[in-house]
Amino acid sequence: MLAGEARMLVDGELVGTNSGATFDVVHPASEQVAGTATDGTVDDMERAVGAARRAFDTSDWSRDLEFRHHCLMQLHAALEADKERLRRILITEVGCPVTVTGSQIESPIAEVKHWADHGRAFEYLVDTGLHDTPLGPARRKLHYEPQGVVGAITPWNVPLYLNIAETVPALMAGNTVVLKPAQLTPWSGSELGRIVAEKTDIPAGVFNVVTSNANEVGAALSADPRVDMITFTGSTATGRAILAAAAPTVKKTLLELGGKSAHIVLDDADFNSALPLAAMMACVMSGQSCVLPSRILLPRSRYDEGLAVLQASMENFPMGDPWTPGNMQGPQISETQRRKVLGLIASGLDSGARLVTGGGVPEHLATGYYVQPTLLADVDPDSQIAQEEIFGPVLTVTPYDTDDDAVAIANNSIYGLSGEVSSADMDRAMAVATRMRTGNVSINGKSHFGIDSPFGGTRQSGLGYRNGAQGFTEYLHIKTIGMPE
Ligand code: ADP
Repeated sequence: MLAGEARMLVDGELVGTNSGATFDVVHPASEQVAGTATDGTVDDMERAVGAARRAFDTSDWSRDLEFRHHCLMQLHAALEADKERLRRILITEVGCPVTVTGSQIESPIAEVKHWADHGRAFEYLVDTGLHDTPLGPARRKLHYEPQGVVGAITPWNVPLYLNIAETVPALMAGNTVVLKPAQLTPWSGSELGRIVAEKTDIPAGVFNVVTSNANEVGAALSADPRVDMITFTGSTATGRAILAAAAPTVKKTLLELGGKSAHIVLDDADFNSALPLAAMMACVMSGQSCVLPSRILLPRSRYDEGLAVLQASMENFPMGDPWTPGNMQGPQISETQRRKVLGLIASGLDSGARLVTGGGVPEHLATGYYVQPTLLADVDPDSQIAQEEIFGPVLTVTPYDTDDDAVAIANNSIYGLSGEVSSADMDRAMAVATRMRTGNVSINGKSHFGIDSPFGGTRQSGLGYRNGAQGFTEYLHIKTIGMPE
């Protein structure tokens, strides 16, 4: 285990809270307290927002593109230098297996450089030429300007990745930022604060990190009239609360919320390639992923065959101590989360689902918040387990008869984050993919996800985009200036 930075970053200073209050950070694999983080208050949040407001309104940060690029390249170099420390802290607070930390350490660090370069090359001024108006021709220029103060609220499942994804493009676009990391993973945020304070020229107030064990501190950030935009990743329930808190001041919100994505396996698919991958996706990160295609839809004509491949893959999945190389599934992040997963499995069985494998706590892993890879068959598409996000290593399987039925079952959800289609026939796969009401689809395991492609949910899975060109312009607004030719 390795404890992370316990202090917050407020107005350029690494600080505790006035009362000295802290809260424990628990390592999910050992259930031991690994260290503490500052239990920041609403007062601390108000000071941080005040500092960010002042830095935006009175410093050159929003106007000095080259300086921002210089600072973010310093941040990139410092993160690179501290990579192994950050990896150990991530494993300590999340329980993520060391073998699969690449997407949570190497990828986000590389993305800092990506956004620095993207922001430097971005055209902030676009001349759209002369336009006819009743009063004669007018030239129009579009000025892309930063939103102002951005509040970033992040979850615990991929904390360093999301702390970077929510703050670095915002900073590079010229905004100032207040980051509120999740209670279970404060260090991936406070470490970022420490590195910014100690290793970069980012001015005081431009980047702030307020850790807290209280939800009201995030709520204060989303309601504060001095904040211009909230960027959030987390549950749909919290997203609704943030949207409501942001409404009185009509803040721009960028929300990446829950998902309940379906994987439509067509009857001509190669089961031996599609289904082991589906099982792996469910178990890596212990299923704690918003994009996980957790509802598998199998053609009735090949139902038993599909279940057998999934069962074998889940029963052989390498699970255990996250520090042991080779293990790819670790514990759930907390006892509360484990209980929630086990409760949803029980509700699935109550509603008539059949347990094919798993369903409980692995006997050989008595310490740590582990849950067995779990496969439930004959799942009613309207039941709670088919409708609610589980965030555990659980796949539900439902049979279908025709491609149309499969699309209807996939779309029977309040969510619309991602989805997957497997088929030997690309035309058929595309016909299905285009009818799925969702923001992203993978065909035959080819990922839709990457820094260069927009990622966002439809329906109750979110508003707006991360990544791609859109993922940068979300942090800008357009001022259109009309002038004589
Ligand atoms: P979980 O319930 O799995 O912890 P959440 O979506 O509730 O996930 O939490 C994600 C982030 O939202 C965390 O940083 C948490 O502190 C924050 N949060 C929780 N409730 C609120 C709220 N009412 N307003 C703003 N932020 C909140």
